[in-house]
Amino acid sequence: MTKKILFILVLFVSFNFTEAQETYFYPNSGKFNPSIPTPEQFLGYPIGGQHTRHDRLVEYFKELDRLSDRVTVEKIGETFEHRAQVAATFSSKSNHDRIEEIRKAHLAGQNTGATQNIPLVIHLGYNVHGNEPSSSEAAMLTAYYLTASESPETITWLNDMVILMDPVINPDGRDRHTHWANMHKGTPPVADPLDREHTEIWPGGRFNHYWFDLNRDWFLATFPETKNRINFFHKWRPYVQTDHHEMGTNSTFYFDPGEEASNNPLIPDFLYKTIYPKYSEYFTKATDKIGSMYYTKESYDKLYPGYGSSYINFYGGAGFLFEQASSRGHVQETTTIPLTFAFTIRNQFTGSLAIVRASLAEKASLLQMRKEFFTVSRDQAMKAPIKGYVFGDANDPTRTNAFIEKLLLHDIDVYEVPNSKNYYVPTLQDNNIMVRTVFENQITYKDSSFYDASVWSLIHAYNLPYTELKAAITPGKKIEALPATAPDAVLKSNYAYLVSNTDYNIHKFIFQLQTAGVIVQTAFRPFSSNVNGVKTSFGYGSILISVQQQKISPDQLFEAVSKASASASIKVHSVGSGFNAGGPDLGSPYNRTLKKTEALMIIGTGVAASEAGEIWHLLDQRLGMPITKMDILNIGRADLSRYNTMIMVSGIYTLLDKNTVDRIKAWVQAGNTLITIKGGAEWAIRNGFTKEKLVVSDTMKGMLMRQDFDRAPEIEGAKSLGGSIFRVDLDTTHPIGFGFTNRKLAVYKNSLTFLQVSANPYATVAQYAAEPLIGGYVHPTTMKKLKGSASILVGAEGAGRVIMFADEPNFRGTWYGTNKLFLNALFYGSLINVPQPMVGEE
Ligand SMILES: [Zn+2]
Repeated sequence: MTKKILFILVLFVSFNFTEAQETYFYPNSGKFNPSIPTPEQFLGYPIGGQHTRHDRLVEYFKELDRLSDRVTVEKIGETFEHRAQVAATFSSKSNHDRIEEIRKAHLAGQNTGATQNIPLVIHLGYNVHGNEPSSSEAAMLTAYYLTASESPETITWLNDMVILMDPVINPDGRDRHTHWANMHKGTPPVADPLDREHTEIWPGGRFNHYWFDLNRDWFLATFPETKNRINFFHKWRPYVQTDHHEMGTNSTFYFDPGEEASNNPLIPDFLYKTIYPKYSEYFTKATDKIGSMYYTKESYDKLYPGYGSSYINFYGGAGFLFEQASSRGHVQETTTIPLTFAFTIRNQFTGSLAIVRASLAEKASLLQMRKEFFTVSRDQAMKAPIKGYVFGDANDPTRTNAFIEKLLLHDIDVYEVPNSKNYYVPTLQDNNIMVRTVFENQITYKDSSFYDASVWSLIHAYNLPYTELKAAITPGKKIEALPATAPDAVLKSNYAYLVSNTDYNIHKFIFQLQTAGVIVQTAFRPFSSNVNGVKTSFGYGSILISVQQQKISPDQLFEAVSKASASASIKVHSVGSGFNAGGPDLGSPYNRTLKKTEALMIIGTGVAASEAGEIWHLLDQRLGMPITKMDILNIGRADLSRYNTMIMVSGIYTLLDKNTVDRIKAWVQAGNTLITIKGGAEWAIRNGFTKEKLVVSDTMKGMLMRQDFDRAPEIEGAKSLGGSIFRVDLDTTHPIGFGFTNRKLAVYKNSLTFLQVSANPYATVAQYAAEPLIGGYVHPTTMKKLKGSASILVGAEGAGRVIMFADEPNFRGTWYGTNKLFLNALFYGSLINVPQPMVGEE
């Protein structure tokens, strides 16, 4: 074939594709500006023919920005893997020329509905779950359409709206899946669901770098990706926000309204009764036109504020969820006809244009909705008996600050309390509904079967003491930036350094010292010491560092202690004597040397990726401590002697053969520590790692009452535990309870793992209270098992131990309150020798 013929053929083929793309995705849409490249012209393949890499997608948006005055693209941040987070703004040139003026007028007028003459601000968001890739491809088509279409309707949109777009919410996860789908794509493509293209390996592309679900993070805001996005949200406060997903291959297409039972009772009914039904008319019309099957009203939770389709509802906007059946790959068989990637993209694209069309047409309703929102929010504040909250823990500035950071991020007003180290949040403020969401324990639900959590009062996650105020107080200074936590510089000691361990960063401090070669000890009994003539108390687990009992010089030690103190914001006391004013002296046998933790966590197929990710993230980001993430297939050949701690989160662990299981058992018996969480604890008990027991269900003993077939989802759904907050009694004299100043502690439970209280009186570290519920939904049969059961156990096994957590202490990177339990297990585990009781004595 000559070069010329080849060129003509390529031209012909690509011309045809372009034509086909246009007729398939946006037929009869009028003229398009020929100087703007279609995604296909830019990428070199038709949309749907390949999964588009994140860098190529970003380049396409930049190209649109370069060629057109209808669009600007800005970088709002970066992911852990250094992928750009971009936001695009579509509007007419004249709007772009005065965009800051528009933004300010929009923000100023929103509370009163006075933005009729200001362009309507909406936001389209795509691909939060990385392996639900159709929506980002649709984002490129939508961007092209808004940039190149010459139709009168599009011109009106651009004149009368500011359309913001986040084309890829989870770039790291998306690329993980993109590479998977592209590298396994066959020519011709293989539609067999069991082809490797359609079955991603662990952990899959859904999650971000640390295996977290970013579509739970809008409220918890653990991640930079989310923080950048929330800052952008509050900068603009759009009226509408979309969130595009994918679901099972054999489903169809879902859009709002969602099920009535999941309407949040704090939010004005106008959203549910007026906005959602109105929009569904536009979605229905657009989807009927292309013949796609769909459903509405049956599912999807909007109670929880952490979703991309619900967060905005807590600020007087309307969030919209789209869920498209996934081709998970380029084409996949279904129970009807094969589902192509292009088809899934077309539905998402059709939904995107329908949102834009509906928003402008229903502008008056959107403005009314926001105005009503602020009125209702104010009414709620006026009528409520609680006028404000005072919170804070002077013993733990790091944890207190982490909570304040969340409040500020969610645009909640926080004040100092005069003459106190506490903080004040009044309920009479614009964002009262978010204040209620953060602080209140219980809202009334219409349904008991929850898609996710049923309670999310953040104050408990941070284990912060707080008071509900019946009358407003005169606030101190408004908090604009996080309070400083830097401690005074360390004074050099010739004898010892002492540190209280109540601050969140204590483990970071210990780890840094151990890494610098410092020998660190911990106090198994409280004591009080003379610090510069002042009697100072040190609680269980306080840290002491002798100057003489070190392998490094006093100068090197001073440098290491100073450095760790500054880096972890931990206050260090210097003392000149080992004779204590109260409790054991510094040389007492109650003060024991900590062993440096060498930890390994089993990950891979069968292991709960998000639970493992919580631990990886905690150690990486909050402690700067490495952890070996060992694939389950490599455990069999690993030399376990180089580790003293192993972590097993929930998982099925069937890939561990008997030989390997026996080897791990022997390793525990030899004096090492196995830390297990939830399903991991169940696995350890069932596989004979420990003598401790699970609470067994007695409900199956008798016959269950006969029920109609159709009621099963409702009845059985109510028995699961989506996520509620419970109270436990914590043994604060136990190494796992070190540093806690209150025996009452809130824990988060979202599973049906129930541990029996140990037969050994010293082995139950934390136990559920007799009336344990703080907030959330729990089924009566579940409650029966839970009451008085163990929350944390330590089983003595040979010279070693198995630590069992019934719950997830590191839940979603947010439970600062219970992180310390896990970190204590990790750092103090090797010092825990469970005392054995004398049988028959009381
Ligand atoms: Zn999703």
